[in-house]
Amino acid sequence: MPFADILGHERIIEVFRRSIRYGKTSHSYVFEGPIGCGRRKTALALVQALFCPSADDDACGVCPSCRKVAGNNHADIHIIEPLPDKRDIGIEQLREMQREVALRPYEAPRKACIIEPAERMSVNAANSLLKTLEEPPGNAIIILLTENADMLLPTIRSRCQVVRFAPLPPEHVKLLLERNGMEGASAALLAQMADGSMQRALELDDDELAVRRELLLKHLSAIDLGRIASVFDASEELAGNRDEALETLDMLLSFYRDVIHLTAGCGEIINTAIRPALETLARGLSLDRALQVASDVMETRRAVQRNANVKLALDHLFMKMTVSATY
Ligand SMILES: [Zn+2]
Repeated sequence: MPFADILGHERIIEVFRRSIRYGKTSHSYVFEGPIGCGRRKTALALVQALFCPSADDDACGVCPSCRKVAGNNHADIHIIEPLPDKRDIGIEQLREMQREVALRPYEAPRKACIIEPAERMSVNAANSLLKTLEEPPGNAIIILLTENADMLLPTIRSRCQVVRFAPLPPEHVKLLLERNGMEGASAALLAQMADGSMQRALELDDDELAVRRELLLKHLSAIDLGRIASVFDASEELAGNRDEALETLDMLLSFYRDVIHLTAGCGEIINTAIRPALETLARGLSLDRALQVASDVMETRRAVQRNANVKLALDHLFMKMTVSATY
């Protein structure tokens, strides 16, 4: 996929294009950023552009070289990942890669190697890479992908140019999901819960999401009636582990954004599948109260992220919401 087809990361891509134009790309990079934000796509686009015979600063996307890169079968690209039954990337894999990289490229102007996730290289493997990073044989380019560059040995980091990728904005995730064939309302909800990661958006199973949405709505309508006991039922059933709680809170935030839109008299909402239930919630709340609930949800989300007790944080939030409901 050429740079031109990558969504987001405009500044990073502009820098790459300029360095390709001036022949100033580095030999060794660390791409740091959340899983599923486009690091690997960008790494492959960079290699594709460096390999493409007709590239000025971006791959043409149609020549045999570009098609091989896109089809994952270019003989001069080496992708190093943990072997299927292993957690770490072992030293043997790195040695083999180094032997390969030292050979003359088959057809490309140089060899390329992508290591992911780079933080899973064993210490021995990482140490064996130092010399290659310093002086890659035959002008090879080596790209390490990691969620957090601080997890790499400082000696590795200092030999590479570190490029930081931001999470994808929700509107980009939504667009990508729609390109994958998902309908707008589901794409919009998943995009808000995906933390800027396409991979996470795809992992959040749509059916499971629908079940959770119903459960949350059921509890919300009980809370809406101001029943204190309903608070504890709700947090009991919705808390789960930290990740599940964060998903629930994202969903809640997305509901209340819609409720705010409805109370403000704007008909446009994201969760169209549950519009009647949201309209009922909106009728019971003033705009001020709805804004307050949304801000309480965000505060709870931050607390849960900072390791607060999940159950207590939700108790506290639902309690505040019950009080809002009785006004
Ligand atoms: Zn090409």
